[in-house]
Amino acid sequence: MARQSASDADVPHITDDGAPVVVRRSARRRRTVAAFWEDGNAVIAIPASFTKSQEREWVRRMLAKLKKQGERQTGSGRRRPATDQALAKHAEHLSQTYLGGRAVPSSVRWVSNQNSRWGSATPADGTIRLSNKLQRMPQWVIDYVLVHELAHLLVAGHNAEFWKLVEAYPEAQRAKAFLEGVAFATSRGIPAEPDTEGPGDSAGDIAD
Ligand SMILES: [Zn+2]
Repeated sequence: MARQSASDADVPHITDDGAPVVVRRSARRRRTVAAFWEDGNAVIAIPASFTKSQEREWVRRMLAKLKKQGERQTGSGRRRPATDQALAKHAEHLSQTYLGGRAVPSSVRWVSNQNSRWGSATPADGTIRLSNKLQRMPQWVIDYVLVHELAHLLVAGHNAEFWKLVEAYPEAQRAKAFLEGVAFATSRGIPAEPDTEGPGDSAGDIAD
């Protein structure tokens, strides 16, 4: 990556939580500025016509807004900081709450290369990976996939013992139905968010 010029050195490139900041200039935007979480990045969308000093001012302003939204915990996936560190800590909490702390992952990471699965677990080395497509979904859905993968560290297959573990999580049935709905809509090309500028293409099936 090229060295930044002196003029944009003041634009924040990382959030307080350590997530990368992506400034997206759009010719389609006239006056509106938007900020949202996408694939673990804090995206600030600004009109292409903005000057560098307007960019600096608005990136700062919107990052502060994102942070405030995150602190409010609105339940909307895209507004949360999505660092692996936060995810691992949250997984530990879920293991304690629903699995008696018996599932102890060695690592829990967001990944972007998981196209047909929401999550995966490797019991042999204790690693769990979650698709970053989940970051746009409600927290209770993300929690279901995490509990599902945590349970796989204890039971490899989808047998009765496995589902008994997973169903300790009260939203399990609802979350499964939610993910099936998302997979259905995706396979039919039904757009969930027609007005976002980010890539809307994704494919998936239930957590496995
Ligand atoms: Zn599974």
